[in-house]
Amino acid sequence: MSCVSCATSIPGLLDIEEARQRLLASARSLTASETCRLDVASGRILASPIHARLAMPGTDNSAMDGYALRLVDLDTHSDGLPVIQRIPAGCAPPPLPEGSCARIFTGAPIPAGADCVVPQECCHIDDQGRMHVQGEVLAGANIRRHGEEYLEGTTLLSTGQRLDAPALGLLASQGIVEVEVFVRLKVALVSTGNELVEPGAHLAAGQLYNSNRIMLGALLQQQGCTVVDLGIVADTPAALRGALCQARDSADVVICTGGVSVGEEDHTRPVLTELGELIFHGVAMKPGKPFTFGRLHGADGGVPLLGMPGNPVASLVTWQLLGQPFVQACQGRYPRPLQQFSVKAGFRHRAPHGRHELLRVVLDHAELEPVARLAGGQGSAMLSAACQANGYLMIPCDMPVMEGNDYAFLPVTQFAI
Ligand code: AMP
Ligand code: MG
Repeated sequence: MSCVSCATSIPGLLDIEEARQRLLASARSLTASETCRLDVASGRILASPIHARLAMPGTDNSAMDGYALRLVDLDTHSDGLPVIQRIPAGCAPPPLPEGSCARIFTGAPIPAGADCVVPQECCHIDDQGRMHVQGEVLAGANIRRHGEEYLEGTTLLSTGQRLDAPALGLLASQGIVEVEVFVRLKVALVSTGNELVEPGAHLAAGQLYNSNRIMLGALLQQQGCTVVDLGIVADTPAALRGALCQARDSADVVICTGGVSVGEEDHTRPVLTELGELIFHGVAMKPGKPFTFGRLHGADGGVPLLGMPGNPVASLVTWQLLGQPFVQACQGRYPRPLQQFSVKAGFRHRAPHGRHELLRVVLDHAELEPVARLAGGQGSAMLSAACQANGYLMIPCDMPVMEGNDYAFLPVTQFAI
């Protein structure tokens, strides 16, 4: 995708799209599945395809409230048709005798012999109770035909489909009460940083509340993962080694925040190399440059590790663009390509050097065309703007933002599914 690959990125950094592709290429999907009742299956991932047991609609039925009749009878009975049946939804009507019509309601089965339904607005009942039609009527009008949506045996949902509300509605329409879904993916969460304390604890000088644990925990739960929370881990190789071994032994994927840069206090990469392998480090994105991907050696081919930057907005954005598609692929899903469309910038901004910048913006619809405005401060620790933003404006490397120019806008709603 041209917008997320860039010729002038800093050497050694992967383009965003290349990083996504490398992550997806190394994701191994869960295979274990379990049976799940439909009423608690929201957000679960199908482990086997669903084929239609019933054709839809199951019978020819009326699309309108009106009168069912034989078209030919309108020509031969210019004095109107007697209304000899009343067919509400839910009944099984007898055949319609020639030269008569039936009062019928939406969803009710069409009686044998009738070949159209005339909407009640086009009908008139005279003093003798005979029905007259105003206007033209076509054969088959307002009849929903048996199997016109799909026939028995049609594949309705595929393996890897997330069970959202329409999918659950579709399953219910088939009379299905339980489905086979993949087991929940277990993700261990490790927050590194000597400066971190949990909300609720006393904040001493130089300390900082841990935002990433709660934020990433919520994002993982939204994706239907089971979170194995390993809390805050001190910035020492020994502490990190212990935490990563525990994480590897208790989860399918490990996410670790902080300590992924190259300073003396950053231990993730050396400990990862000791316990497994570093697959790549560094992505040409701002925020999010230090994002790291590797694998901790262990049983069954080991456990993948996503090293997310400590700054909360960098953690959020690398989760959305890189971590989430990887986790979805591990869950058995087929992640979607990034959704984006062109939007005008309503501001100026300096060029991001050697990386794509993802500016947190709000779309302003006050004018004819939507215009992107900065949602607030753009520092990689500034969650307040991320809370206001409804998308990211993707600025290509080394390109200053000019007011009125078009840039790719990535709506954040795409990450909520
Ligand atoms: P690091 O990636 O460890 O160099 O951290 C970068 C910045 O993010 C530092 O200012 C850290 O204090 C901050 N940070 C790291 N982890 C967290 C966290 N879990 N919650 C909030 N801020 C964090
Ligand atoms: Mg740190």
